[in-house]
Amino acid sequence: LNRRLAEFGTTIFAEMSALATSTGSINLGQGFPDTDGPEEIREAAVRALRDGRGNQYPPGPGIPELRTAIAAHQERRYGLSYDPDTEVLVTAGATEAIAATLLALLEPGDEVIAFEPYYDSYAACIAMAGGTRVPVTLRPHEGSFRLDLDELRDAVTEKTRLLLINTPHNPTGTVLTREELTEIARLAVERDLLVVTDEVYEHLVFDAAEHLPAATFPGMRERTVTIGSAGKTFSFTGWKVGWVTAPPALVSAVRSAKQFLTYVSSGPFQYAVAEALALPDAYFDAFRADMLAKRDVLAAGLTEAGFEVFRPQGTYFITTDIRPLGESDGFAFCRALPERAGVVAIPNAVFYDHREAGAPFVRFAFCKQTEVLQEAAKRLKAAR
Ligand code: PMP
Ligand code: GLN
Repeated sequence: LNRRLAEFGTTIFAEMSALATSTGSINLGQGFPDTDGPEEIREAAVRALRDGRGNQYPPGPGIPELRTAIAAHQERRYGLSYDPDTEVLVTAGATEAIAATLLALLEPGDEVIAFEPYYDSYAACIAMAGGTRVPVTLRPHEGSFRLDLDELRDAVTEKTRLLLINTPHNPTGTVLTREELTEIARLAVERDLLVVTDEVYEHLVFDAAEHLPAATFPGMRERTVTIGSAGKTFSFTGWKVGWVTAPPALVSAVRSAKQFLTYVSSGPFQYAVAEALALPDAYFDAFRADMLAKRDVLAAGLTEAGFEVFRPQGTYFITTDIRPLGESDGFAFCRALPERAGVVAIPNAVFYDHREAGAPFVRFAFCKQTEVLQEAAKRLKAAR
């Protein structure tokens, strides 16, 4: 393994899911739902396969039906208008969108500012692209993890090429506010930075929080690459269909990288996702309501089991602090938890450069059936 990748080893998700399997534990580690997405959308995939649509290489940028559906979704939900032919690119999940974007836009030595804790692939992809990551730490403040805007401003240097942001944020569940995004936009414009915004949890926002796409802020549309994914929104993480929306020059750059990564993305699922994006609002509302109920079940269970819970405003993850349990090392805690309680979780420290800042935090996924969440909570309480 080369020096760029050596520090990353195996992803924590693979490690923890293997541990869940080998110990027969409830897996609240890796974020994937234990119920599949809508039946009618699965049927749409079967129909595409059977009718011979997408069984051979689809068009490089993605099938026109899906690009049109992605653009229509951005327009309908956010009033953002993108040309399906020049401003939309279909990718193999958001993971490839992140990789292709960073590989396309970074010169070796460029600095990328990302919020810490950051989704693990950001760090690896910045490294593969020869960039340097500059983490800005989100810190607990009145029950959620927040950004210090002065710290963000101070992190920008002559070498900063782009801001890599994520809202709703994995693993903290933070949803950036209008004020925060306004400041981020002001800074990006002032320092002429590109912005890459990972919005895969756009449909999972709770309570009074609202998902505000970064591209809707003044001066942002022309400098922003927005990333989405069908895996999260439709509960088909195995399909690996994601997308990028951005101005033509940026999409064209990302496409240049994508063509040598996967060339094209899997065909039949693109037809099915095109139908999914056109589902009525009732689908998205029911999905959100269901996840909200699950959040409340797990948050209550974790609180009862002695954790300090940061109630997420978005995503399907809950970050907890284990110090009230008399613990302080999330790594050791998560490695021991399967044996101790029959539950798997993720130590947030893996998402930090400043590991000590993340040490006491542990993430639980709640995209699971209610009985599963209740059983996990029972086990955690018993093991206390
Ligand atoms: N970004 C974030 C913040 C995620 O949590 C995930 C996956 N859980 C991804 C990107 C990757 O999405 P995909 O499965 O579509 O590759
Ligand atoms: N994004 C999911 C999570 O945060 C997992 C995806 C993966 O395994 N790479 O749990």
